[in-house]
Amino acid sequence: MPELFIGGAWRSALDGRTREIRCPADGDLVAVVDEAGAKDTVEAITAARRAFDEGPWPTTTAADRGDLLLRVADLLARDKDALARAESLDTGKRLVESAYDIDDIVNCFRYFGRLAAAETGRVIETGTANTDSRVVYEPVGVCGLITPWNYPLLQTAWKVAPALAAGNTFVLKPSELTPHTAIHLMRLLAEAGLPDGVANLVLGAGPEAGAPLADHPDVDLLSFTGGLQTGRRLMAAAAGTVKKVALELGGKNPNIVFADADFDTAVDMALTAVFLHSGQVCSAGARLLVEDSLHDRFVDEVVRRAREIRLGGPFDERAQTGPLISAAHREKVEAYVAAGVAEGAVLRCGGARPEGPAYDAGHYYLPTVLDECRSGMSVVREESFGPVLTVERFRDEDEAVRLANDTIYGLAGAVWTSDEGRAGRVAARLRLGTVWINDYHPYLPQAEWGGFKQSGTGRELGPAGLAEYRETKHIWRNTAPEPQAWFA
Ligand code: NAD
Repeated sequence: MPELFIGGAWRSALDGRTREIRCPADGDLVAVVDEAGAKDTVEAITAARRAFDEGPWPTTTAADRGDLLLRVADLLARDKDALARAESLDTGKRLVESAYDIDDIVNCFRYFGRLAAAETGRVIETGTANTDSRVVYEPVGVCGLITPWNYPLLQTAWKVAPALAAGNTFVLKPSELTPHTAIHLMRLLAEAGLPDGVANLVLGAGPEAGAPLADHPDVDLLSFTGGLQTGRRLMAAAAGTVKKVALELGGKNPNIVFADADFDTAVDMALTAVFLHSGQVCSAGARLLVEDSLHDRFVDEVVRRAREIRLGGPFDERAQTGPLISAAHREKVEAYVAAGVAEGAVLRCGGARPEGPAYDAGHYYLPTVLDECRSGMSVVREESFGPVLTVERFRDEDEAVRLANDTIYGLAGAVWTSDEGRAGRVAARLRLGTVWINDYHPYLPQAEWGGFKQSGTGRELGPAGLAEYRETKHIWRNTAPEPQAWFA
């Protein structure tokens, strides 16, 4: 069955190109899928434009749009096992993690389904006879949605659910490496009764299939999640048509541990913070900042436990984390580690591919700890997006905050301390979109998610997530117009 979904119909790429999708854990062929080019994407944009301009979706009541999202949530829950399996085959992620992701995705659709109907604009008292004034919300129009490969369907849900809740139409381009759950989602949207042309899917490489979503005049909003360099390029491309642009980019997230932290929990969560999904998490706690007096004992224990982490494929129940997404990505991670060591970091564990036949065909890389790092090193400044923890020391609260904020990113991070006053002070001074105190990684669909500084422009979740996808219009009405005679 062809995999591009345009104007309510499934079809192949215009020039017949395809791409092999292989599981990162073992290199096995998962499927061969259609590979769109720019012409396919322009057709998808045209379909989305028509569906927006001719309706009925944008003028469907907010309550009905919300109901549709709730139906989609139920369908996603029904298909959870198949979706989790597809996500794991594409990403190499452990099946249990993919299953958690599907639960989050169901919650996301439920959240925006309820929010759609709850936010209805407001009436403003004008204080003048024969006039009234209303603020109403309207959809932005055609949305171009571009998503990455690390949480393929979750990142897609964070865009598709609010875009639909607000009454937009869209063209989705998922990562070329992980297309399958997006294909499945299109089927579910159609099954839930979404009108043809509202949801469109193109698969393929960014520079070909994705680029028109940034510069085409018929796209009103570009929402992108991915790397910083791509984000910069797309923002520049979108400038020509002054699109609304929402960017969710990377992070180089500090995990700050004071000497008075709960030692066992902080060690345990320092490992989870950085090695979950082999570090391929935008909010990964890749920079460990440890108070000087605790440093040796803390890092020794992190290293001891990092050495014991078991790697394996998605269906290996003993595995604690999996492979990297591709051979090219592993090479990038290896280059960052080599650069760190060359710049003076001390390699405490990892820094190599695991050995053994179970790992030969996958893109595995051992959990790696680089100690004695300094903030000028490229492995500290840039996102390796792999299982690499850099360790820096600090002497006091001021230095911890200064080091933590010494980055162009501002996505997320944590502070570990038993001193509540200090926790509050540090959290207030961190230039981050999300701060966890004595915890790492939890998020809520009800709370905004987005980055300070170059981590992005957008706010994907919470009420602000819906606000990204709508225009706010003030309607003033004079019910008894008559000449003003200003210059009579
Ligand atoms: P990427 O920038 O390489 O690709 C992301 C998407 O952009 C893919 O669909 C890709 O095909 C597309 N793309 C690439 N070049 C393009 C172009 N010229 N025109 C249009 N589209 C183009 O990122 P990635 O490697 O897929 O994902 C990892 C990155 O995503 C990391 O930096 C990570 O931090 C970030 N991320 C951020 C968040 C967040 O919430 N802030 C969440 C997940 C991932």
